[in-house]
Amino acid sequence: MQQIIAFSGGPEEYVRDGAHRKMARPDECPICGKSGGMRPHGFYPRSVTIPGPIMRLLIQIRRFLCSFCRRTTSMLPDFAQPYRLVATDTVNEYLAGSRDSAEVTRWSEHLGRYQQRFEDRIQETREALATAYNIGELSLVATDLWGEVCRDFGGARRFTARFAGEVGMTVFGIYRCHRPTENSSKHIDNNLARGRDPPISALGHDNGPNNRSRFSGAATSVPVVSR
Ligand SMILES: [Zn+2]
Repeated sequence: MQQIIAFSGGPEEYVRDGAHRKMARPDECPICGKSGGMRPHGFYPRSVTIPGPIMRLLIQIRRFLCSFCRRTTSMLPDFAQPYRLVATDTVNEYLAGSRDSAEVTRWSEHLGRYQQRFEDRIQETREALATAYNIGELSLVATDLWGEVCRDFGGARRFTARFAGEVGMTVFGIYRCHRPTENSSKHIDNNLARGRDPPISALGHDNGPNNRSRFSGAATSVPVVSR
């Protein structure tokens, strides 16, 4: 299982702050829903693109293990796309139609493949959005649909976090590890604007970050796609 966490900076800030070590422990297991069983369970590395000559940065992702169901949950900062190298903000620029930035130019081959995948499965994406969030009449043009949902959800990072965390999808695919159980469709998202469903309760993080942290703690509860 993977949860996408709101982070108010980029990969460089994440590394510089040692943010992976400050990641709040989820109060509840997002898989089995039980409280108080999540324990730190190491880290795993992954890469994400950054501007400048280094091009990509290796970051550490915090993992927690549930002592009840023995399943792990990893905490992906929202500047990174699940299973995609190119950073969310650059993906957003490309899908929004911008070809101006150096980052978009540099990663245009990757981004072109992402967009193709988005287009190939747009009908499935539209149906999932309609079922989970009662959004009808979304565009059949991928880049238009992207603009519509980013506007509705309050940005690309926030849309990705909620769609992945609550529905188990991104516009590029379905990911088993994101699929929530029916009683635990949650993600953590305080730093970014709210989408359609307001938070209903605060998560109590017993090792939560202090006030200066880039992290947040609020939970949402929304319908999930039946499957
Ligand atoms: Zn569990």
